[in-house]
Amino acid sequence: MRSIVIANKKGGVGKTTTAQNLAAALASHGKKVLAVDMDAQANLTRAWGVAHDGKSVLDVLRGKATWQDIAVPVENGRGCVLLAPASRQLAAMPEVFAQEIGKELLLKEALETVQATFDVAIIDSPPSLDLLAINTYAAADAVLIPVQCEFHSLEGLSLMQDDLERVRRRLNPNLAVLGIVPTFVDRRKRLCRDVLDVLTEKHAADLTQSVIRDNVTLAEAPSHGQSIFAYDAKSYGAQDYAALGAEILNKLEARYGA
Ligand code: ATP
Ligand code: MG
Repeated sequence: MRSIVIANKKGGVGKTTTAQNLAAALASHGKKVLAVDMDAQANLTRAWGVAHDGKSVLDVLRGKATWQDIAVPVENGRGCVLLAPASRQLAAMPEVFAQEIGKELLLKEALETVQATFDVAIIDSPPSLDLLAINTYAAADAVLIPVQCEFHSLEGLSLMQDDLERVRRRLNPNLAVLGIVPTFVDRRKRLCRDVLDVLTEKHAADLTQSVIRDNVTLAEAPSHGQSIFAYDAKSYGAQDYAALGAEILNKLEARYGA
């Protein structure tokens, strides 16, 4: 199993949207996907219409439940995605584990128990660098960074790179950047084209070929508890996430084989 965390400290850049639709896209290629909601906002959980007041990832991290106990099948037959839901109680993680040795490594340790069960884990993370986020960085093989096409995103990206450097030094030396994905792309806007130019200039090696266009259908799908493929398979959003899914599969194969 390869674990990919969808991360950016900046809020509202399309992390959860990318986590949901990338998980669904990879499953449509026959991959067994575990989607892990590591954000106490539980947006990924709600985006699939799953209750966020029951058993959650927190129970797994506390050793009180297994992934199989908490995981909920989503995507209704369009490939295998099991969602490990978040709950609001996740916000209490720093207090719950205050006395725990190696509390940054709890998710990593938990995911090791399902290494042979899934092909890919897609982890949604909060817009912060709290204990939840640090656990996601420590557990992941690679990070996928959605970047909104706006001016402040570029600054956020360089701050994130400092964080990743520290994570590599202290917790997870193998953490790779799998890609930087431009989101909310609207090429009619000059600013958006400028930001894409800077990204191409400064981050050519990491920038994905696929971009996610600004598409209202992507904002509607979660309120119906569906991925974009279930909600509107013909939308631009579905086309863009299908392309991203295929590109990510290729990247995983190139980097890790199989
Ligand atoms: P947070 O930091 O709060 O977790 P996030 O980075 O996970 O936010 P999302 O929740 O995925 O961001 O997206 C923010 C909002 O924008 C949501 O309402 C989502 O439905 C909408 N959205 C995401 N991507 C797009 C897009 N490409 N086009 C239009 N709307 C989008
Ligand atoms: Mg989110």
